[in-house]
Amino acid sequence: MIKWGDYGFTVTSPFGSRRDPINGKTAEHTGIDLVKAHKAPIFAFTDGEVVHARMGQSGTGFGNFGNVVAIKDQRGALHCYAHLDSCSVKSGQKVAAGQEVGKQGNTGRTNGNGAANGKGSHLHYEVRTKATPSFGFGSHTDPSAYLSKYLEQGKGTSKMKPTDFIAKIAPAAVEDMKKTAVPASLTIAQAALESGWGGSGLTVKANNLFGIKGSGPAGSVKMPTTEYRPDGTSYQILANFRVYHNWAESIGDHSKLLVNGTTDDPKRYHKVLNADYKTACVEVWKAEYATSPEYPKLLIDLIEQHKLDKYDQMGKVEKATVELNGKKIADGTFLNGLVTVPIRDMAEALGAKLVWDNIKKIATVNGKKIVGVQVVNGRAIAPVREVVEAAGGRVAAWDGLKRAVTIQK
Ligand SMILES: [Zn+2]
Repeated sequence: MIKWGDYGFTVTSPFGSRRDPINGKTAEHTGIDLVKAHKAPIFAFTDGEVVHARMGQSGTGFGNFGNVVAIKDQRGALHCYAHLDSCSVKSGQKVAAGQEVGKQGNTGRTNGNGAANGKGSHLHYEVRTKATPSFGFGSHTDPSAYLSKYLEQGKGTSKMKPTDFIAKIAPAAVEDMKKTAVPASLTIAQAALESGWGGSGLTVKANNLFGIKGSGPAGSVKMPTTEYRPDGTSYQILANFRVYHNWAESIGDHSKLLVNGTTDDPKRYHKVLNADYKTACVEVWKAEYATSPEYPKLLIDLIEQHKLDKYDQMGKVEKATVELNGKKIADGTFLNGLVTVPIRDMAEALGAKLVWDNIKKIATVNGKKIVGVQVVNGRAIAPVREVVEAAGGRVAAWDGLKRAVTIQK
């Protein structure tokens, strides 16, 4: 069975028959109610395709559900994430397990009915064995039982076809690249080599794609591994390896290593970041990620054979600058049509007061709460317009060629 606490949730209402929290009558609870913090990110429990990502309309199978993201898994069952404050994905999009689908909220029929204070905020997670018609309304099943069986059996498939492996890992590698600048092609190639196209015992048992040791977000697992004596002879021991809930977590951990380096050299892997795939493959080896002299060529061949460099195009984040009175005041990034900027740099340049709540990840500029805050590599960023307007200025112009935003205050 699923341990919801491992995913950061408290269960406030289980699946099955219960007393309705609003009208008091006994009724069938068609899903499970899970609670983190109001507006905390909700991550997909499985891979799949988004078939609905907006306010549920009554009569469609999603009445009273508020903002619902529904994801169809590989067996055609539908995973519904309801009452979201907002959706982070779009219909038609493929998502990887562990990818953010929205923020926890209280939209639809909850104790809070969308109240701004977050009253009644929870995730209603429901699994339906059918996806049509009306999004499989009425075909609900115990989500905990379904999910644990699904994850178990999914893990039993062992070695995958390279095309299947790439299809599964690429969305998470691309999303990760947008945040960390670790080339998606490098991530996929290293994972393919290390995990034997997803067939290694460590990947099957622990979602550990890169053989990272220690204790992970879902604990650790003992596996045999080969060690070398100083004289070069080898021996086998049991070592602890990190266990992850899903591949996206494993990818995130690998990127963290490349971004943060090692204690003796925090910039050890920095030549890999934002690099073209050939440079990245050579630099990761020079930085002693692997010692075999064949390593860079193995990676490059793999990338070229499977045309993995196209994922680097998808994960590329373009730079943008922000100017005030003809002077650059911040470096930003241009992503999905929006320029985002470090909130602290902007607030300082505009003489505005910034309050940062590091626990709730909430930024307030001159008393106004900033919407759309993300923490990337330890820095809080947000859309430029949000920050500028809170600071009492306005966005005056956008130069698409120079990728420069001009602001006035
Ligand atoms: Zn519920």
